[in-house]
Amino acid sequence: MKEFLVFLVGACFGSFANVCIYRMPRNKSIVFPGSFCPKCRHAIYWYDNIPILSYILLGGRCRYCKKNISSRYPIIEIITGVLTLLLFQKFWAAGYYCEFLFYFVFTLGLIIISGIDFETFLVPDIIVLPLIPLGLLGALLCENFFIPQSGSYIALTRFFYSLSGVLTGAFLVLFLMIIGRIVWKKEAMGGGDLKLLAAIGAFLGWKGVFLSIFFGSILGTVISVALIYSKKKKWDDYVPFGPYLAIGAVLAMLYKGNYFLSLYFIP
Ligand SMILES: [Zn+2]
Repeated sequence: MKEFLVFLVGACFGSFANVCIYRMPRNKSIVFPGSFCPKCRHAIYWYDNIPILSYILLGGRCRYCKKNISSRYPIIEIITGVLTLLLFQKFWAAGYYCEFLFYFVFTLGLIIISGIDFETFLVPDIIVLPLIPLGLLGALLCENFFIPQSGSYIALTRFFYSLSGVLTGAFLVLFLMIIGRIVWKKEAMGGGDLKLLAAIGAFLGWKGVFLSIFFGSILGTVISVALIYSKKKKWDDYVPFGPYLAIGAVLAMLYKGNYFLSLYFIP
């Protein structure tokens, strides 16, 4: 029962993430006006705005114009709900309240960034940049920010570990950008990826940066090859790397402290 409530609260935040994903790239306020159908502009009332459930009850169509509602809406709500529950079990249930709050905001930020990058190929500064000082602050404030060894670390050590992640993320992308320009004569990664990896580094440290790239590259390659073979994409189509990095970061975050991974990668 408690699990279901946590999932539901997470799904509501997923609803909010959907609003950000739709409105932020269009330079619209995320507060006013209330929800409306992007196709017919009709206001959406609360009973049609219940996460996941409303989408199912409406059969994936707007009540007024009957046009399809993007499946992105329930998908983001489900993903946010599930991740909130996983974070809750890993951090909150173990008594790491401070850690839970910081990593929850981090995850929500990653979801919004991924959604916007997926649709517009842009990483929004207004979300990604504040995550960097937020990660540094979390390392300073939360005793177990880098589970499990960090319990014995002092705040300043944690802060520098977080800072090492910011610098590793930024310099690594800078390095790859320069290599890409020399070898392939085109951008392999962009400025958005640089800011995103710096933010990931602030929360996960330098090892987390490498792990996120490791997971992200595998996933990106597998999905790209699958899309090319199913003829949904061509070899030279642009693929945003941000969402894959974000998934890599979420995996790295959830498996922090995992014995097998800690042997190789993560403190
Ligand atoms: Zn409509």
